[in-house]
Amino acid sequence: MNPLLRSIPSVSQLLETPEVVELCADYSHDVVVSRLRECLDDLRNTLKTDSSIGKLPSHSDLANLARKSLTQLSRSSLRPVINATGVLLHTGLGRAPMAESAVRQIQEVANGYASVEIDLESGKRSQRVEAVEQKLVELFGGERATVVNNNAGATLLTLAALASSKEVIVSRGELVEIGGSFRMPDVMSASGAIMHEVGTTNKTHLRDYDSAINENTACLLKVHCSNYRVEGFTKSVPVTELVTLGKQRGLIVVDDIGSGALFDYASLGITGEPMATESLAAGSDIVLLSGDKLLGGPQCGIIIGSEASVSKIASHPLMRALRVDKMTLAGLSATLDLYLGGKPEQEVPLLSLLHTPIEVLEHRAEVISKAINESETKISASVESDVTYLGGGSVPTQEISTCCVVLKSASLTADQLASKLRRSKPAILPRIKNDRVHLDLRTIFAREDNMVIQLVTESHC
Ligand SMILES: *Cc1c(COP(=O)(O)O)cnc(C)c1O
Repeated sequence: MNPLLRSIPSVSQLLETPEVVELCADYSHDVVVSRLRECLDDLRNTLKTDSSIGKLPSHSDLANLARKSLTQLSRSSLRPVINATGVLLHTGLGRAPMAESAVRQIQEVANGYASVEIDLESGKRSQRVEAVEQKLVELFGGERATVVNNNAGATLLTLAALASSKEVIVSRGELVEIGGSFRMPDVMSASGAIMHEVGTTNKTHLRDYDSAINENTACLLKVHCSNYRVEGFTKSVPVTELVTLGKQRGLIVVDDIGSGALFDYASLGITGEPMATESLAAGSDIVLLSGDKLLGGPQCGIIIGSEASVSKIASHPLMRALRVDKMTLAGLSATLDLYLGGKPEQEVPLLSLLHTPIEVLEHRAEVISKAINESETKISASVESDVTYLGGGSVPTQEISTCCVVLKSASLTADQLASKLRRSKPAILPRIKNDRVHLDLRTIFAREDNMVIQLVTESHC
């Protein structure tokens, strides 16, 4: 045992050290005390196992250790990132960036009170989503809409409200996993519905659904394969045919479309995204979609469809657990206003990034590359055309044209350079491809270009 163990200072002794007094001005007393205790515990454990240490750290050394760990704690909160990955809907980066007007609306309601459940005309209580509900119906169709925390929640709630203890028929080709925790069979069992799989991985026919229907069937579910495609010898049943079958047999049809395109994005390279408007027009009873995917709004799940089904869903007890707050409502409402205004591609950031002509990206890439090459750094830059994707898990059939600034360092590997950029302020998250660092202009806002130049040139003097 190290004899120094007996001389370890107490927390109250440390609290009188000038560095700790300073620390107490920046952090609460209790937090400082708990960090100092941890530092002393660590020291005690080290001394117990190492008898060769001949000197205790000074009080100010210990205070600095505590400060370091507290600085780390505050740094681990959310920080802004320049998305240079090219992935437009990057789950790790919070998916869709929000529009200026949405941010303003959120700020307006966030630091004060808002008419969440009070109708200001009549002074009476009203439903919190009524304001956005009408906009959703106007834009997508259907009779009624409601909003919950995200699309996973929307699916869970819909199945719980419409199919608890009943069978839901779904194709084996559509049992998706959207990131680890959203797997259709798991969501189904959590909702209390009974999954009845039909067809095979590659082929499901209308007759498969037809022959699976029994007296305990509640609904026919269609799920969009957002992040994969089954290609080759395949068959899936279009929602129109499911609706016809549903009508014949008295069953409702639920269509989880995932992204929620309001337009046909084919000209931008995105094909095969089902549109809520089409699904509702075809007669789906309920359509489910995310607010923060192609729609470009805040994270939320949108449930839209028939008055009867949406009412059941909105009055289910789980609704309370999944409901959105005033900030989401404000952000969504402002985003929908941009669609109602008719020029969303100019004002919804996700759409303006998607719509930026390739020539504009090429020009910006040239400017950035030239500035880097003319600076005093060991990094050289070049411009290359490339393709990118909507989401990290998007299918390879959905290529979006783009242009990249490719960086090469004289002394750092691609991983080392990327890690430097990732730790800059703001952080830059590049794409590494063929062992080279790519800054993809498709997801970099033009307002960020100068910052990119500055961070890259400073990263490596
Ligand atoms: C993305 C997606 C979900 C999950 O939506 P979240 O908003 O992430 O909860 C569910 N279903 C489909 C088809 C999706 O594409």
